[in-house]
Amino acid sequence: MKYVFGPVSSKRLGQSLGVDVLPPKSCTWNCIYCQLGKTGEYVTERREFYPREEILEEIRQAVEEPAAVDWITFVGSGETTLYKGIGWLIRETRKLTSIPVAVITNGSLLSEEDVREELLEADAVLPSLNAGSPELFDRIDRPCPGFTYERHIEGLVEFRKVYRGMLWVEVMLIAGVNDTAEALQDIASALEKVRPDTVHIVLPTRPSTESDVRLPAEEGLARARLVLSQVATVVHPVKGSMNLKNTADIIETVTAITRRHPLQDRELRHALDELIPDEPDQVERLIVRLLGSGKFKTVTLQDGEIYWVPASDA
Ligand code: SF4
Repeated sequence: MKYVFGPVSSKRLGQSLGVDVLPPKSCTWNCIYCQLGKTGEYVTERREFYPREEILEEIRQAVEEPAAVDWITFVGSGETTLYKGIGWLIRETRKLTSIPVAVITNGSLLSEEDVREELLEADAVLPSLNAGSPELFDRIDRPCPGFTYERHIEGLVEFRKVYRGMLWVEVMLIAGVNDTAEALQDIASALEKVRPDTVHIVLPTRPSTESDVRLPAEEGLARARLVLSQVATVVHPVKGSMNLKNTADIIETVTAITRRHPLQDRELRHALDELIPDEPDQVERLIVRLLGSGKFKTVTLQDGEIYWVPASDA
């Protein structure tokens, strides 16, 4: 499939069937922690990048398959709401299935009224809020020229006023950048204005655009929980496990996932173990087959964690 991938395990959404509505990489920001590499040229104009009927047809086919899916998640190779017609896709998807629909977004375009309206029918919207000051916002999210922190907050506040679904704000916690007491107090003040249903603290566990993006120490994570929970319910989601049981073609499935984000080697091996229980030799053979396909390579981070990425990635 061209647009639909997974289901993949998501820290926030369990088994999530992804729908990617953008050509890579199309984004309004260039975050230091991005898993998709640097933003070459900012994209700020909303477009129907692919025919909406084509995308919906793939969703229709995917939901007809008997697979354990907790959420259908619109998530772009960049900023999802750049897709003009996301509202139509959400509406039509909800007519097809009772599986709830989520939208992962950086939230930048919520400052536009038509974007806010298009997201109203989603069951959950997950925007980012990584900073409580313009300086830190520019340092972490590196938005397109002219896009301000004030505009970002205003968009989130305006959306909350009209949105009745679940607003789960995501805070990417980066060691030495936004895990200090001062930075967290600023984020808490911003969250007070936005009034999300919950705040999800997420960590830069995957290879990032900038090599100095580090996981916070236990102390930073504890501080974030404490400070942010004074203004909102804080969730630090536990990682789910990937399910490959309904996969017809493993190489295609792993290709679709790694095109969107790096895949942890441990997670892949665990999913293969569950697919072929008590057959470690077969699992190894599958790993060799996957690597032999020439479509992937592995990278090892400084913490020793191994990830699968597309072979074409630098
Ligand atoms: S992390 Fe998301 S918002 Fe930031 S640059 Fe990457 S795709 Fe864009």
